[in-house]
Amino acid sequence: MKKISIVVPCYNEEESIPIFYQEVTKITDKMKSRSTFEFIFVNDGSKDKTLEQMRELAKKDKKVRYISFSRNFGKEAAMMAGLEYATGDYITTMDVDLQDPPALLEEMFETLETEEYDCVATKSTNRKGYSFLRKTLTKWFYDIISKISSTEMIPGARDFRLMTRQMVDAVISMKEYNRYSKGLFSFVGFETKWIEFEIEDRVAGTTKWNFWKLFSYALEGIVAFSTTPLVLAGLIGVIFCLLAFIIIIIIIVKTLVWGDSVGGWPSMVCIMFFVGGIQLFCTGIIGQYLSKTYLETKRRPIYIIKETEKMTKQ
Ligand code: UDP
Ligand code: MG
Repeated sequence: MKKISIVVPCYNEEESIPIFYQEVTKITDKMKSRSTFEFIFVNDGSKDKTLEQMRELAKKDKKVRYISFSRNFGKEAAMMAGLEYATGDYITTMDVDLQDPPALLEEMFETLETEEYDCVATKSTNRKGYSFLRKTLTKWFYDIISKISSTEMIPGARDFRLMTRQMVDAVISMKEYNRYSKGLFSFVGFETKWIEFEIEDRVAGTTKWNFWKLFSYALEGIVAFSTTPLVLAGLIGVIFCLLAFIIIIIIIVKTLVWGDSVGGWPSMVCIMFFVGGIQLFCTGIIGQYLSKTYLETKRRPIYIIKETEKMTKQ
């Protein structure tokens, strides 16, 4: 019999955890003739009663295991910890807010068992419950990254997926500090089947993402999976050199024909600001890559565990 690990990152989700556990248990009960299960809840430094909820579930149900971080390390770190901790033959990652229907698990499991796939991933056909601004910016992000990265990023891809042990081992073998998991899952390859569904509103709680978090997450994705912005910066430099060269020729010819007349300093100031701006912009791009490199070279741990079901204070 195959074992399925259910990895669930949680950040301030005291209300969602009991509902999630109840709903998913319905599915696991339905599937228990064909597979065994383990839950791996990851408490990503929550400030509410999330950890207490996990402790309670672990006491009640032997299938429930949990990891608790020493502080908030972000969803990517939480997923990494869960994947490393999981012992199943198949591993699924799920958000605790039930925006992704756990009922799909049965179909996903069936696919991995009977077909030649290593992973069944999900994407949503709608973006229900997300603001207009978020929808627009997300679309832009996918438009841009699909053009500048050789790693395929699927628009609307959710973090809900079921993977084989082999694929998960490949993902956790990548120890990079700046983790953009949608890219990492795509980078490792393997055969992925995509299934579509309509996402639901959160069952409880609120989204943990604000504009800046999403913006820096998008930047992370671009810097981690494309070096095109660097090429672009170089290209802008070349174009500006050419432009300057042409202008110099024009000015020399003009001076020779009509003589030298002092003037035009406002336009000069504009040009200085413009070129200065472009330079800072390009330096900023390089800075992004440099800062990520800096963080990688420090080799800091991706997460720090304070407690698990095997080491509780009480
Ligand atoms: N999450 C986390 N750490 C964070 C932010 C979020 O573990 O720093 C978890 C959160 O508890 C949830 C999942 O990641 O289970 C998805 O978060 P959310 O629903 O807020 O994201 P959205 O659906 O808005 O993209
Ligand atoms: Mg959500």
